[in-house]
Amino acid sequence: MERRDIFITATDTGVGKTVATLALATLLQDQGYDVGVMKPVQCGGDDARFLKKSLSLKDDLQDINPCFAREPLSPHLAFKRQKRKIDVPKILAAYQQLKQKHDIVLVEGAGGLVVPLRDDYFVADLVRELNLGLLVIARPGLGTINHTLLTIEEARRKGLEVRGVIFSEISSRKRGIPERTNPREIAKLSGVLVLGTIPYLKSLRRPEILRRCAGMVDLKRLLEPSAGVSTARQKQLVDWDKKYVWHPFTQMKDWLNEEPLVIDAAKGSYLIDTRGNRYLDGVSSLWVNVHGHGHRHVNRRVREQLEKLEHSTLLGLSNTPAVELARKLVSIAPKGLAKVFYSDNGSTAVEAAIKIAYQYWQNAGRKGKKYIAHLANSYHGDTLGSVSVGGIALFHKVYRGLIFKTIKVDFPDCYRAPKDKKYPDYAFECLDRFEAMLKKKHGQIAAFVVEPVVQGAAGMIMWPKGVLKRMRELCRRYEVIFIADEVATGFGRTGKMFACEQEGVSPDILCLAKGITAGYLPLAATLTTQKIFDGFCFDYKDQKTFFHGHTYTGNPLACAAALANLEVFKEEKTLSRLAPKIKFLSQKLPMFYNLPHVGDVRQRGFMVGIELVADRQTKKPYPWEERVGARACEEVRRHGVILRPLGNVIVLMPPLSMSLEELARLTDVTYEAIKKATS
Ligand code: PMP
Repeated sequence: MERRDIFITATDTGVGKTVATLALATLLQDQGYDVGVMKPVQCGGDDARFLKKSLSLKDDLQDINPCFAREPLSPHLAFKRQKRKIDVPKILAAYQQLKQKHDIVLVEGAGGLVVPLRDDYFVADLVRELNLGLLVIARPGLGTINHTLLTIEEARRKGLEVRGVIFSEISSRKRGIPERTNPREIAKLSGVLVLGTIPYLKSLRRPEILRRCAGMVDLKRLLEPSAGVSTARQKQLVDWDKKYVWHPFTQMKDWLNEEPLVIDAAKGSYLIDTRGNRYLDGVSSLWVNVHGHGHRHVNRRVREQLEKLEHSTLLGLSNTPAVELARKLVSIAPKGLAKVFYSDNGSTAVEAAIKIAYQYWQNAGRKGKKYIAHLANSYHGDTLGSVSVGGIALFHKVYRGLIFKTIKVDFPDCYRAPKDKKYPDYAFECLDRFEAMLKKKHGQIAAFVVEPVVQGAAGMIMWPKGVLKRMRELCRRYEVIFIADEVATGFGRTGKMFACEQEGVSPDILCLAKGITAGYLPLAATLTTQKIFDGFCFDYKDQKTFFHGHTYTGNPLACAAALANLEVFKEEKTLSRLAPKIKFLSQKLPMFYNLPHVGDVRQRGFMVGIELVADRQTKKPYPWEERVGARACEEVRRHGVILRPLGNVIVLMPPLSMSLEELARLTDVTYEAIKKATS
C-alpha cells in the first residue's frame, strides 16, 4: 500500500509546529490510525519526549529523536559545538523502524526548510532523502503570505511535493482581516491547498485537542499522496489549457467542449489530477513509463545530473552521461550493434536510421539502392521521413503530397488474414511474397524497416514466431539494411529487453526511444553496426559525413535518466520479476472473449490489444465514427483508470512495475467498460 507519511515543516521557528504535530497525530489516532511521530533533529527543549508521552508512543526515544544537541541553536551550529555531525543514515534507519510499526509516520522538521543541518545539507535535503510529502505549518496574521510563499517556492525548487498548508494559532488574539483572508490568498497565489486551522489550545491534553480541533483540518486530503490544487487553480488551468494548448492527435473542436483532465502529480502506477483523484496509468503515459512514476532512483540520478550539467552539445564536444550511456546501450543491445547516434524521439530515431541507410549506399557508390521498404500498415512516427515509411491511412494519407516514394510490403496480420488463409501460414506466405519482391528489386532497396514482433500503432498486431527471423535472414541474403524500430517494443515491453531477442535477431540498425529514459525525458538512440559506421568514415574533403544532428542530441539530463533506467532494471531484476506478471495477464485475458464484441485478444509480454468488432463472426469492424474504443476508454476513466485506444483496439501497456493487484484492477475495470461500451 502507498505510504501516507508526512514531513511537517514550518514557515519559521516558533509558529506552533510541534503543537500542530501533536494535534494532527491525536486527530489521526482518534480516527483509528496507528500513528508514529518522529523529530529527527532536536536542539534543546524536550519536544520528542513530550510527543512520546502525550501520544502514548511505545517507540524508543532514540528512534523518535535520533539526533539531539543540547543548545537551542541552528542544528549545524549546535552539533558543531558538540564536535558532532548530524548522522543522516541514522535518521533514515530510525524512520525505517517507525515505518514498520505504524500506519502513518509524522516527521517533524527543525524550523523551516532552509535550516542547515550541516554546512552543506539543509532540512529540505532530508525531506528529499526521506521521500516524503510536505505539510507547511504557517501562523495566521500579517506577514504570513510572504513566509508561506517563500517556503512553498523553496520546496518546489527542491522538487518536493507540498501536500498542503495548515495554520496554527499560537495566541488567543482575535482574528482580524489578515487572519480571515490569508488562507484564501495563499491558496490562490501558490496553488497549494489550505487544509485548515489548528485553533489556539489552552491545554494540550487529548480531550481538549479533540474537542477544539475535530473537523478543523481536512485529514482526508492531507493523507492523499497528492492533494491536488485549489478549486480556483483547477478552473484556471482548464481555462488556460483551452485557450493556449493545441493537443496532439486530438480533434480540438471536441476538446474545447469537454472538461479536460489535468494531471498534476504521479506516483508509482498512478497519475493524480488537480483534484487529487488517482488513476491507474494503464498505457504507461503513452508507452514510455517503465518502473512507475517518481521512481526514487531515477529521480535522484536526474537531480544529481541537474546539479552538475544540464546541457552541452554533442556537435564537436562530448559529455559524461552520453558517453556512459552509449557504452551501456551497446553492451545490452543485440550482438553486432556497435555505435550510438542520439536524437530526441521515436520519429527522429527512425528518421536518422533511414538517412543513415540511404547514405550508406550512396557513400559506397551503390547509387541505385535508394528506396526504403516497409510494411504496408506500419507506423514509425510523425515527421515527414517517418510518415513516408508509414502506412496508416487515417494518419498519413493527407500528407501523401509531401512524402517520398517507398516500397510497401504486405503485412502478416493473422487476425485479419483473408478468409481462406490460416494462422500462422498466412504470415509466412506474406514472407514468400516479400522474398520474391526482394529477389527482383534488391538492387533498388537501401533498407527495410519494421517494428519487430509487435506492430504497435497499427493496432497491436502481433506476428507468429519465426516471422522476424525470416525477415532478417532475407534482408541479409539480399543486401538490404535491416532496421528494427524498437521505439515501442524496447525496454522490456515484450518480456525481453528488446523484442529482437525473442528470436535471437540482430538488426543492422536499431531505433530506441520511449522507454529509454524510463519515461522521464525525451531521448532516442539509433544504434548501428561497425560496418555501417565505417561506411561513413572517409576523408573530410569527400563530404561523406553524416550531416544530421539535433540541438538536444545526447542531452545529459536525459542520458542520466536513461542510465538510471538501466540501473533499476538490474537492481530490481525488473525482467525476471516481470515473467509471473506476464503469466498472470495471460490468465486474466481470456475472460474478454466472454464479451460478444471482442473479436481478438492479443498479448506479447506487457503489450496487449483487445480488438472490438461489430460482428465477431464476420470480424466486421465498428464504423470509425462510432468511437467505440474511445467510449470504452472514457468509461474506464470514470473508474480511475487511464487508457488510450487505437481506433477499435483497446490497448493495455502498463508500466513494468505494476503489481498483480493493480493488473487485476486494470483488467477488471477494462472488462466492465468494454461491456458497457459495446452493449
Ligand atoms: N516508432 C514506433 C514503433 C512508435 O510506436 C512510435 C510512437 N508511438 C514512434 C516510432 C514515434 O515516436 P515519437 O512519438 O517519440 O516520435
